[in-house]
Amino acid sequence: MKYGKIIFAIIFLSGISVVNAAEKLFSVLKDGNLTVEFITPKDDKACLEASMIIEKYIYKSTGKRADAAVGKAKICFQIEKGKMDPEGFRFSFPSADKMVITGGGPNGIKYAALDFCERFLGVRFLYPGPAGEHVPKIKDLNIPMKEYSDAPKFQTRTLGSGNRHWSRQRYQDWFPLHRGAMPYRVDIGHNLYKMFPPSKYEKTNPDFYPIINGKRYIPRPPRLGLHWQPCMTNPAVVKEAIRIICDAFAKNPDLRTWGLGQNDGDGYCECENCKKFYPVPDVPHRFGSKDRSLLYLQFCNKIAEGVTKKYPEATFTVFAYNHTSIAPKNFKLHPSLIPVITYDRLNWVDPERKAKDMIRQSSWSAIAKNVCWYDYFYSNQYVLPRVTSHHVARQLREGYNLRVRHIYIEHLPLGISGFGGNEQIWAEGPLAYLVLKMLWNPFQDEDKILNDWYVTAVGPKAAPYLKSCFDRIEDFWINKMPKSAWFKRCARTYLVPTWHDYLNVIDKDFFENCSKDLDKVCELAPEGDCKTRAEYFRSAFQNRRNRCEYWIQNQNVRLHRADAFTKLFFKEDFNKGFDGWGIYEHRKYPGTFVSHTKKDGYKNTGAAELRCRQGHTGGIEKTFRISQPMNFRMEVKYRCVGTTEKVIPYISAEWCDDKNEILHSVFYSDIHGVYSEDWSTAVFNFTTPYQLPGNLRIRLCISGSTKGKVQYDDLIILEAQKK
Ligand SMILES: [Zn+2]
Repeated sequence: MKYGKIIFAIIFLSGISVVNAAEKLFSVLKDGNLTVEFITPKDDKACLEASMIIEKYIYKSTGKRADAAVGKAKICFQIEKGKMDPEGFRFSFPSADKMVITGGGPNGIKYAALDFCERFLGVRFLYPGPAGEHVPKIKDLNIPMKEYSDAPKFQTRTLGSGNRHWSRQRYQDWFPLHRGAMPYRVDIGHNLYKMFPPSKYEKTNPDFYPIINGKRYIPRPPRLGLHWQPCMTNPAVVKEAIRIICDAFAKNPDLRTWGLGQNDGDGYCECENCKKFYPVPDVPHRFGSKDRSLLYLQFCNKIAEGVTKKYPEATFTVFAYNHTSIAPKNFKLHPSLIPVITYDRLNWVDPERKAKDMIRQSSWSAIAKNVCWYDYFYSNQYVLPRVTSHHVARQLREGYNLRVRHIYIEHLPLGISGFGGNEQIWAEGPLAYLVLKMLWNPFQDEDKILNDWYVTAVGPKAAPYLKSCFDRIEDFWINKMPKSAWFKRCARTYLVPTWHDYLNVIDKDFFENCSKDLDKVCELAPEGDCKTRAEYFRSAFQNRRNRCEYWIQNQNVRLHRADAFTKLFFKEDFNKGFDGWGIYEHRKYPGTFVSHTKKDGYKNTGAAELRCRQGHTGGIEKTFRISQPMNFRMEVKYRCVGTTEKVIPYISAEWCDDKNEILHSVFYSDIHGVYSEDWSTAVFNFTTPYQLPGNLRIRLCISGSTKGKVQYDDLIILEAQKK
C-alpha cells in the first residue's frame, strides 16, 4: 500500500469526508440508495460471485437491496488472464460514469471484491463466526476516481486448519475472506512413493527401487511411504517421472505444479552411480543427517528440465529437511524447483537457533529463484494462546527478502487435533488476522493493522486494554518463554505444544493482570457488537487461564509427599483377572496383547501382562466418575520380562468429557517407569480439574520394546482432601 492510500483509507474509514476539492468522485451510494449498476460478463461465475460479495455487504450496511434501474453509472467486473498476477486486481475509472474492477483470475476478482468491502465500506472480518464480522452503517459512498491496483507478495498464503470437520468449519469459512487459500500454486508433500508404487512397478521395473545394504529394497506395507527413495540416478526413473507428470498436466489444464517431495525418513539408494553423489567423506552434516542433497537435486533437476520443455510454466517443490537440509554450494538449481524449508520459526527468538537456521536458509536462497516456508503454530494445542504477532510480521518481511514466496503454516486454531479438544474457542485475538494481512503484503505497518483491529473489535476506549492484554501474552512468548526448560528441550523442527512446562516461567501476577485488562475492556466497550466481543474475549481467556492454573496446580500436587494421601480410593490386585478393565490399543495396530497370569505376579499372585509388539503403544484402562475436588496418588508394581531396554512402562491419568474423549492435553499426566527386571514401583500424584463432575481415566501401558512383556500388579489409588 502506498503512503497516500493509507492516509486516504484512514480518513475515509473514520467517516470524515475531507476530500481534496479537485479530486473527482465516483458515487456508489446516496442516502442509502445504490447509484450504480453492477455489470458482469455473461457466464462468468467468478465475476458474478465478486459482484454478489459487494452487493451482500452493501445490503448489510444499508439494509437496502440493490435495484436494477437502468441509466445509472456502472461498475463492471472483468478478468484479464495472463496480464497480471492471477490473484491481483485493479480498480480503474475509464469515464465519469464507469468503474472497472479487473481481476487477474477467478481469485483476483474475488479478492478485488473483498478489498472493496474493506477499503470502501469499512467491513472487517475480525475473527471466525458472526460476532467477528464488522459492517458499519453507511448512507453515502463516494470513491475517489484514482486507479488502484494490488497483488499478493506471497503466492501461497496458507494458515492450515487440518481436514474438514465441524469444529473447524468456522475457521475454514473465515480464512478465505482474508485472501488465504490452500496451496494451489505449489503442491507440497511427500510424493515419490505415490509416483512409484511397488504394486505397479515391482515386476516390470525392480531397478526403480533402491539398493540398501547391498540388496534391492522393495517397499512393503506398512512402510510403503517410509524409509526408501527411488534410485535417483536411474535414467528410466527420470523418464517415467516426466511421463507421469506430463500426462497429469495434459489431463488437467489447471494443474501446472507437482510435488517432488522425497519419502519421509532415509533409504537413499546405495548403488555405485548414486554413491557418486554422496559427499566425501560421507559424514553427517551440521544438522545431524548424512547429506543427500546433491543426489536428490540432480534427480529433481532432470525431471524439471524434461517437464518444462513441454510446460515451461510448471513449478515443483522439493523438501529441504533431514538428509537434504542444506543446499549444495554452487549448484545450479532448475528455476522451476522451489525448496520447502520446514521449521517452527518461533525458535528464532533464540539468536543461536536463528543463526543456525539462517545457514540453512541462505544456502537455499542462494540457489533458488523462490523458496517456500513450512511453519507450525499448532494453536489449539497450546494452553496459553501462542500470540506472537509482531514476531511473525518481522519474520515475513525477512523471509520475503530471502526470496520466500510461498508460506504454509500448520495453524490448527480451532477444533480437534490429537489432544486439542472439540471446542471452538478463539483465544488468539488478532494473530491470524494480522498474519493473513502480512501474507498479502509484509511491508505494511503491523501496529496500524493491530490498532485498527483492537479499535474495531471493542471500540476506542476499550482498545488500549485489549492491546495491553495481548501485548503481555506476546511479551511472554518472546521474552520469558525462551528462558524455560521447555524451550531448551524443544530444540527440534517444531516446539512441542502438548508439554506445558513453559508455564513454569510465567510471572505470578500474569493471569491476574490479563484478567484486569479484560475486565476493563468489558467495562469500556460500547453496548452492542463491541460489548459482545469484549465478553467473548474475556470468557475465552478465562477458559485458558483456568487450564493454565489447573496445570500449575497439578504440578504442585505432584510434589506432595506420600503421607499426605491417607484414604484408599481404589485397589486392584489382578488376582481374579481384570474384570471391569478396558483395552487401550493403538488405532493403527490393533490385536491381542493383553493376558493374565494367576501366579507369576508380585509375591506369586495374579497380575496383568502386556505383550510388546513392534514398539507399539497399548494398555489397559479404567474410568471413574468423580464429583468431589480431590488429590490422588496412583501407585503400581511392574516388571519387564524379556523386553529390550528401550521399553517404556508408563501409567497415566486423564480427565475426559461424557463421551470419554480427553478434554485437552493439559488434563493429562503420567509417569514413565524405567527398565527393570525386578519388581519396581511407578507412582505419581494428580488433582481434579476445576469442572466437576468429570470422568477420570487411568491407564497402565507399554511402549518402545519390540519383544517381551511388562507385568502390572497391585494398583492402589489413594486420595487426600484438596486444599
Ligand atoms: Zn541408485
